[in-house]
Amino acid sequence: MKTILVTGGTGFLGSNLCARLIGMCEKVICLDNNYTGRMSNVSWLMKHPNFKFMEHDVCEPFDIKEKIDQIYNMACPASPPAYQGAYSIKTTKTCVLGALNVLDLAKKHGARVLQASTSEVYGEPLVHPQVETYRGNVNPIGIRACYDEGKRCAESLFFDYWRHEGVDIKVVRLFNTYGPNMDPNDGRVVSNFICQALLGQNITVYGKGLQTRSFCYVDDTIDALILMMNSKKSFIGPVNIGNPKEFTVKELAEMVVSKIDGNLKVVYKDLPQDDPTRRKPDISLIKSELNWAPTVDLSQGLDKTIAYLKTQIKLFQSTKEVCVA
Ligand code: UDP
Repeated sequence: MKTILVTGGTGFLGSNLCARLIGMCEKVICLDNNYTGRMSNVSWLMKHPNFKFMEHDVCEPFDIKEKIDQIYNMACPASPPAYQGAYSIKTTKTCVLGALNVLDLAKKHGARVLQASTSEVYGEPLVHPQVETYRGNVNPIGIRACYDEGKRCAESLFFDYWRHEGVDIKVVRLFNTYGPNMDPNDGRVVSNFICQALLGQNITVYGKGLQTRSFCYVDDTIDALILMMNSKKSFIGPVNIGNPKEFTVKELAEMVVSKIDGNLKVVYKDLPQDDPTRRKPDISLIKSELNWAPTVDLSQGLDKTIAYLKTQIKLFQSTKEVCVA
């Protein structure tokens, strides 16, 4: 049994990862400050003997008594409304100071450490689909920069700790991911559209809805994360993880509407600044190195996400906590 630290463990991806690792009979330490994570994502794990929750902000140095074998660094606000709003400076700190703290911890414990980087490092991509060798086109002073540049700096720190400190690293670049444990209020497109539709509200498409994204169902992403973590030492990445099937935002809206209520209205709102026009991963590298490819298509994944978000809406509706933008 390995002892595995998951930072950002109560968030969307972190909590799905914790659950999977517990299912694999590993010992899991879930660390989070719950700024954007939610205890309800892990409450059912709290009594499990192999699961421990540690409330801590990854920006502050920390140590763990037991010997850690692996660290997944998942901690960071990830939805644009969260990192462009009150958490923008905190987002850069979480990316940079968080990376430093987990790298120091990994060095001390001799642990392997995986960085959850992002497709956002490609910015407004001039290369399509995005390959790992593409260096990106990021606006360093825009409203997305706290996240994009923060994650770029974290990648740079990971590679310097690997080059100069001998830390055993893995770097993955995650493209849009969706599924159970998404926060219905976090403002991301999939949760927004589904919650709006379930609540009978208008579906808010930003811009003309012609921008594209490639949506990967969370179970596929978790498979890839675990495969990467346990891959041969020499394969450090960065490697893209995502579903290469590309959809316009308008197509996504139409799919959600047709699944929930064909009478719903789509309304068009201003496109946020620096919103990437196109995004689609080239997954040749992960296919050839780890034999991974996504297995859940968007329609199946949306059905599962709708079922989950229905339960969340039922839970919160009486308290009016679901108030989608
Ligand atoms: N979007 C939208 N309506 C919403 C929320 C998002 O049209 O209610 C668009 C957003 O402008 C972007 C895409 O959907 O083009 C994906 O947004 P999301 O916030 O999920 O993640 P991003 O890929 O931008 O980080």
